[in-house]
Amino acid sequence: MNSQLPIPFIDLAAQRRRLGDRIEKAVREVMDHGRFILGPEVDRLEKDLCEFSGAKNAITCANGTDALVLSMMALEIGDGDAIFLPSFTFSASAESVVLAGATPVFVDICPDTLNIDPAGLLAGFEEARTAGLRPRAVMTVDLFGQPADYSSIAGFCGEKGLLLIADAAQSFGASYQGARVGTLATVTTTSFFPSKPFGCYGDGGAILTDDEDIADLLRSLRVHGQGSDKYDNVRIGMNSRLDTLQAAILIEKLSILKDEIEARQDVAARYKHGLEDRVISPDVTDGVVSAWALYTIRLPEARRDAVQDGLLELGVPTVVYYPRPLHSQPAYAEYPAIDLPESEAACSQVLSLPMHPYLEEAVQDLIIEGVNKLI
Ligand SMILES: *Cc1c(COP(=O)(O)O)cnc(C)c1O
Repeated sequence: MNSQLPIPFIDLAAQRRRLGDRIEKAVREVMDHGRFILGPEVDRLEKDLCEFSGAKNAITCANGTDALVLSMMALEIGDGDAIFLPSFTFSASAESVVLAGATPVFVDICPDTLNIDPAGLLAGFEEARTAGLRPRAVMTVDLFGQPADYSSIAGFCGEKGLLLIADAAQSFGASYQGARVGTLATVTTTSFFPSKPFGCYGDGGAILTDDEDIADLLRSLRVHGQGSDKYDNVRIGMNSRLDTLQAAILIEKLSILKDEIEARQDVAARYKHGLEDRVISPDVTDGVVSAWALYTIRLPEARRDAVQDGLLELGVPTVVYYPRPLHSQPAYAEYPAIDLPESEAACSQVLSLPMHPYLEEAVQDLIIEGVNKLI
């Protein structure tokens, strides 16, 4: 048993072993040609991302937070605009709204999927109106890898004339009713932070869109609002490019992503089977394939911390994503929030277990046994 310890929460080393020397070779090629900024691998990766996702355009950038900010800049979202998003998410989702100059309006989540509740959007919409804001967009977050309820949300957006922005930082590789993430919203953003389902060896991000005009704007915005070149400044932009080295690494990793997403389905199914009835397992909607960024169970609030401590003693690392909803964080105190009981409840009950495509059955059995014993 000790030979399996410590158990990694996410095993990037196993992925690297699988890829052999492909990454070293790809990195060496970039070192040799020396085009470290927007080199040929960036172009190639953008083409590969389109092919993989089915999106018409992919624009890479420096990280997933910038991908959101750049998207809102391209959509001319700013002062006085209300963006509806879940409170139960990573801070970057809401932070990007504020950085773009707009106002986040927090909406509650569905208790089964932990994603934004389409039924809560109307209350948010009214709240924004009351606050004198202009409703502009819904930002879905595909939490823990599961795409949000896009058909209901797109319906609401159509009815109210709102844009749809998908924060798919955790869900690249997932699909919804046969369509891959990247094609489900006006713009879709993702992050290549190392621990995401599709990550690089540093920071990185991308935006996917079918809209050619938005794509052209994004290509300008990521290089200081350039026109014909960097020294022709036609708008205010920023410096947000993906390093060629990271693009070269991502090209290699993308070639095994489909296989990895499939392996994650097996890991998730084994967890569900092994933990059945003792905890609340994540619920994936019919027709949806999650990227399983995380496997997050729910436990009675009174037991959660004890189970986490007990697992740590067994050598099993777990993480609470997220301990506090954003609307109750000091940084967001001034923004509108309706009553969000499901977001509050989730924060006190969730626990994420080790999750990655290379989790061996024996190790997983040990984790499952530990949870079942402690609960
Ligand atoms: C990771 C993450 C981001 C931000 O991505 P970075 O690349 O770290 O900037 C945004 N939204 C969600 C939901 C995330 O999980």
